[in-house]
Amino acid sequence: MRVLVGVKRVIDFAVKVRVKPDKTSVVTDNVPHSMNPFDEIALEEAVKLKEANHAKEIVAFSLGPAKNQEILRTALAKGADKAIHLEVDDATYQKVEPFHVAQAIAKLAKDEKFDLVFLGKQAIDDDANQTGQLVAGFLNWPQATFASKVETEGTSHLKVTREIDGGLETIKVKLPAVLTADLRLNEPRYATLPNIMKAKKKPIDKKTPKDLGLDLTSQTEVLEVSEPPTRKGGEFVEDVPTLVKKLKEKGAL
Ligand code: AMP
Repeated sequence: MRVLVGVKRVIDFAVKVRVKPDKTSVVTDNVPHSMNPFDEIALEEAVKLKEANHAKEIVAFSLGPAKNQEILRTALAKGADKAIHLEVDDATYQKVEPFHVAQAIAKLAKDEKFDLVFLGKQAIDDDANQTGQLVAGFLNWPQATFASKVETEGTSHLKVTREIDGGLETIKVKLPAVLTADLRLNEPRYATLPNIMKAKKKPIDKKTPKDLGLDLTSQTEVLEVSEPPTRKGGEFVEDVPTLVKKLKEKGAL
């Protein structure tokens, strides 16, 4: 099985994101970035499939500016065999949408005959939760999103447990398929120093949107980006009747 893993460079989850004064987007200059946490989980699961001899090759893919190479090097250090960087400049990347990313991934998956596309369930910057579903739609492949457990069933199927609103759902999908990783799927490993060194020699194949016949015309327009409303502080009450009274006053009961 050959696995294509999508890894997005996002503002690090520990950073307090700030909106630009002109409200067009968020501040990214001089802000620490890292691999989207759900993509680390997808990559870890792909590495486990390889360690169990179910996957032969893992290719990490990232669409974005030159800095995305850092994320790809991290993916290579964590177990990807090679990487594909679809490079666009910063201005172009501002306008890239899940629709475009999904088109690029679908084209690669088809052209390079991958058996499994493994993505994060969502990118923590846009919170779109669209790319995996779109890839499956473009390819007409089965999809198992929000995966919290992945098991192989012979060489042709995967048994996937999914986190859904009411609990867990287990489905069987035929390969080739698209999977998206949820939080509880695994705990990603850290890259070791020897593996970081080895990753420097692994290949990163650079591609352009033209190579993939990708049309980056916008499908959506961002009208405004704003901060979430600031949360008001909590209040301690003496007893339950006071709590009920307060909740009634606020219309919560
Ligand atoms: P989204 O639909 O934007 O929430 O992203 C879902 C998943 O798609 C992410 O967790 C990544 O695995 C993948 N993805 C999104 N954007 C990119 C990108 N620019 N490069 C590589 N993979 C991406």
